[in-house]
Amino acid sequence: MPVSPAALAHAEDLADFVAASPSSYHAAAEVARRLEAVGFTRLHEEDSWPALAGGRYVVVRDGAAIAWTVPTDAAATTPAQIFGAHTDSPGFKLKPQPTTGSRGWLQAAVEVYGGPLLNSWLDRELRLAGRLALADGSVVLADTGALLRLPQLAIHLDRGVNNGLALDKQTETQPVWGLGDAAEADVLAELASSAEVPVAEIRGYDVVVADSARGAVFGKDRAFFASGRLDDLASVHAGVVALADHETPEQGPIAILAAFDHEELGSASRSGAAGPFLEDILERVYANLGADGSTRRQAYASSWCLSSDVGHSVHPNYAAKHDPVVQPVLGSGPILKLNANQRYATDAVGTASWLTWCERAGVTSQEFVSNNSVPCGSTIGPITATRLGIRTVDVGIPILSMHSARELAGVSDLYDLALVAQSFFKG
Ligand code: ZN
Repeated sequence: MPVSPAALAHAEDLADFVAASPSSYHAAAEVARRLEAVGFTRLHEEDSWPALAGGRYVVVRDGAAIAWTVPTDAAATTPAQIFGAHTDSPGFKLKPQPTTGSRGWLQAAVEVYGGPLLNSWLDRELRLAGRLALADGSVVLADTGALLRLPQLAIHLDRGVNNGLALDKQTETQPVWGLGDAAEADVLAELASSAEVPVAEIRGYDVVVADSARGAVFGKDRAFFASGRLDDLASVHAGVVALADHETPEQGPIAILAAFDHEELGSASRSGAAGPFLEDILERVYANLGADGSTRRQAYASSWCLSSDVGHSVHPNYAAKHDPVVQPVLGSGPILKLNANQRYATDAVGTASWLTWCERAGVTSQEFVSNNSVPCGSTIGPITATRLGIRTVDVGIPILSMHSARELAGVSDLYDLALVAQSFFKG
């Protein structure tokens, strides 16, 4: 069945979002930029906040963003509907003393970030992007555009390569970015000039390597969408689209988008799901509505968190890696993720609620469960549930090539996830 024009438009908009979000810092800024453009107010954690009822707000903390809308009649026990996702993706991060090279080549010293499929990063034009902390105390975003490449060794020099390619994480992952003498070059100057600041002003940096190619729709009936960083910008984008469209009602839940950083490292940071960011925002929002510790927990008890991250579609060449019966496939809808060992937070009550939100959105969903012999990944859902005690459901979209520099999703699933997020925000 051909995908709808609305789903194709959503995929093109996601391509824009991913292109604008090469690092978690860019993603958080892009979330705020898009929401401010439709009337959200940017708040800062170091300020005191105005009365929040009836308004729409966004806060950025490092590479994470939390945005929310408060109904006009919201009170101390008004529940929250929290859509969670993450802004970071596996790849590489720039090391200290990053300019290296030899034999006429300029290289950049990088450290592996999370669990990328290393071979997928070969032979692509890559960009450096992230934030620079400057001598005057300010922080700016920088993005070089296509600058680097990890060139694969020619088959003539590695005749056994098709029996299996194993890259050394240190010696074989250092990208080239130019020609010349490393002693006379400075890769930080490329970042500084992209941000239009003097390189001597840079005091610190959080900079990652990202694929520079734009996402693209292709395949029979235009069913496929390939892009870098779909894990998990596809979910962040669905949440932003849904929240931007969410009218602030007089009554109903507080609708919240929580886009965390550092999921690929286990979420333990001040901007990660295991850190205090969401709890800090919730405490301030509920205090603003007149709640104390007791009434806030009343609100939590009737709240929901929909934790959205990518999951595995069945792969036709490796079907035995999946559960023999439960085999979600691209294009057949978002997935509900279940795991007996609580690697996903979904339970019976969460399943029933998810099906209601899907039904209201007119969306069909699929289930995901692991093959017992293939260990399951995890995500922000169980962490959020454990921290706050809020009922949590783990969901997402099915993809192939997870943690590749360029992953593969279904166009209709991306749009359907945004529709369910919209229905979820209504409570
Ligand atoms: Zn993820």
